[in-house]
Amino acid sequence: MTVRVRLAPSPTGNLHIGTARTALFNWLYARRHGGTFILRVEDTDRERSRDEYTQNILDGLAWLGITYDEGPFFQTQRRDRYTETVHDLLERGLAYYCYCTETELEELRASQKVQKLAPRYDNRHRHLTVEQRQSFEAEGRRPVIRFKIAEPREIRWHDLVRDDVVWNSRDLGGDMVIARVEESGAIGLPLYNFAVVVDDIDMGISHVIRGEDHIANTAKQILLYEALGVTPPLFAHPPLILNPQGAKISKRDGATSVSEFRAMGYLPEAFNNYMILLGWSPSNGQELFSLSEAAEQFDFDRVNAAGARFDWDKLNWLNGQYIRSLPLTELGDRLKPFWQNAGIDLTPYPESWQQELTALIAPSLTVLADAPKVAATFFVDFPDYTPEILEPLRSEVVQTALRALLDELNRRESLTAAEVNELVQAQITAQKVKKGAVMKPLRLALTAESHGTELMPTLALLHQRQLAVPRLEKALSSL
Ligand code: GLU
Repeated sequence: MTVRVRLAPSPTGNLHIGTARTALFNWLYARRHGGTFILRVEDTDRERSRDEYTQNILDGLAWLGITYDEGPFFQTQRRDRYTETVHDLLERGLAYYCYCTETELEELRASQKVQKLAPRYDNRHRHLTVEQRQSFEAEGRRPVIRFKIAEPREIRWHDLVRDDVVWNSRDLGGDMVIARVEESGAIGLPLYNFAVVVDDIDMGISHVIRGEDHIANTAKQILLYEALGVTPPLFAHPPLILNPQGAKISKRDGATSVSEFRAMGYLPEAFNNYMILLGWSPSNGQELFSLSEAAEQFDFDRVNAAGARFDWDKLNWLNGQYIRSLPLTELGDRLKPFWQNAGIDLTPYPESWQQELTALIAPSLTVLADAPKVAATFFVDFPDYTPEILEPLRSEVVQTALRALLDELNRRESLTAAEVNELVQAQITAQKVKKGAVMKPLRLALTAESHGTELMPTLALLHQRQLAVPRLEKALSSL
């Protein structure tokens, strides 16, 4: 079978992590089978769709490296096909005009609520006479087009993730609205369940891969395929992404859109890897893999049907792994927007200094946005010394050692980390002090912090920028 799959995002919000994961599963499946991946923007909800969301979705996919082979297609540019198909269903008596007003529908829902029934349309306009229609028209009522759903009826399909799924047509909410009607009486924009079927047919989609929240829609759509005389594609419904507590992930859980994760400093390769693990795992249990490695073996038999809980620790761990596997120049490039955001300009410093700084901070980064914080000490003249911070410098031995070191530093313009190490070692031996006794006060004197990046290269980098000597002097003279 030729594999043709699609991502069909609605531009009613930024690219959501759930949609991005669906995109990945489609993409992987297409790559695995030498198929085609199509991007279709479902923009028929004019009130909620916005161009900036479309752009955010396109940017997000590009950032993740999820390329498409066809599209992007836009549903609003395919109106004629939907109108033609609505007319076809109307002519064959499979769809009809419904004139119910919003108030009538609300009353219906209210009475169903009182009776503790699920809300549904009661199909009351299914068999209107010509006279009834005319009189509603004369009242100026604007109709919608509904598709007839036969009840009762079992709708079955073999889902590639969930095996056999059975749905009763009684649970689909009654005859469904497939299109609106314009003031002129012309067929207006279609609704999701209808447009999606027309498109999936026209685009020759072989597999519909989308989130579990679309299962009831799949049942409705299968009825539409039948009405249109087309064999439905195969369906795969991967589980939803849940928050750590097991509820559907939402904005309150920290971040849900790909652009937020990007701004937080996750790498696209780490984020892809993590999203794939939200529902799928390779048979060898490997945790780190590239998109192409995953594409070599991706299949639905290893997609878990149970909800996938979002795990920040795991994502952070993966991100750290990927950060540390990047070549230094590459990591340096990726960090650029994060320095910029923090108002730090690295351009005045030599390339070699920048690269050493990148190497120094890399082990401390969980996300790229950590960099300005981790490296903060390099971008101030003096740290904030307080009497408490300088307390460990009060010992005579420590002061003698630091002064000796200061003299040596004063004699040398620039030192490498290895040279700094030798120098410190030599001072320690000469002064007959314990290394441990000097390191902490030295760090405090240089950075006013008790923890931080590796000390010897930190000192070397500070000294290369002429920051080490004045800091040591100031710390010693503040005692
Ligand atoms: N526009 C729908 C969504 O964003 C598409 C669902 C589908 O793939 O059919 O959820």
